[in-house]
Amino acid sequence: MRLTVLGCSGSVNGPGAPCSGYLVQADGHQPVLIDCGHGVFGELQQHADPNRVAVLLSHLHADHCMDLPAMLVWRRWAPTPATERSLLYGPAGTAVRVGAGASEYPGEVDDLSDTYDVREWVDREPVEIHGLHIEPFKVNHPPSTFGLRITGPDGEVLVYSGDTGICDEVVDLARDSDLFLCEASWTHEPGVRPEGLHLSGVEAGQVAHRAKVRSLALTHVVPWADSAAILDEASGEYAGPLQLVHQGQVIEVRKPVC
Ligand SMILES: [Zn+2]
Ligand SMILES: [Zn+2]
Repeated sequence: MRLTVLGCSGSVNGPGAPCSGYLVQADGHQPVLIDCGHGVFGELQQHADPNRVAVLLSHLHADHCMDLPAMLVWRRWAPTPATERSLLYGPAGTAVRVGAGASEYPGEVDDLSDTYDVREWVDREPVEIHGLHIEPFKVNHPPSTFGLRITGPDGEVLVYSGDTGICDEVVDLARDSDLFLCEASWTHEPGVRPEGLHLSGVEAGQVAHRAKVRSLALTHVVPWADSAAILDEASGEYAGPLQLVHQGQVIEVRKPVC
């Protein structure tokens, strides 16, 4: 399966740098879009037909879902309107949260049901979408947040942490994966960082080591953080292949050749 990074800026977008958005595609299938933060919809148009993608939201913070109202406008009004609904998975309350963002009037909720078949994640209950087997794991981040374990047609495994603080669940989520796309929002400064919110480079490396992942790709670095220092921290904890993802990057996820 193929991962395309549409955006990876943590918490807020940066200059020319959209927030979280990842396109995942199995050969011969339509892609799925994981998260749709600020600026992601513009990038999506370069890689996929917005009328055909399914959308999977890890959680409902603005930097992971608030470009979806733009996609609604496209699907309703672009020259060739969408002819069928797409799947939209997210935590409980997704239809209301996105609908409120798309509404024209304060206090009203836009009805998404003309464009999306909205469904809610159930912890560890897998779903099959566009040739992918996807298992959501509840992780440690407010509000309700799910990391995603995605198995492709050849058994290759991509894991996306979502946003999370340190927890055993994110280790279970990532266990033995071929590529672990893990948030590392900031450097490790105990006592300064809020607990139960995000991972440091040190913690992302520790999770990857404990989970015995085959490769680690760091993402969701906040624009004001030192990304080189975060990468350095992770490399001190995890000895396998390690990189910091960048916007526009394409990564092929494969099982190791035995
Ligand atoms: Zn975030
Ligand atoms: Zn978040």
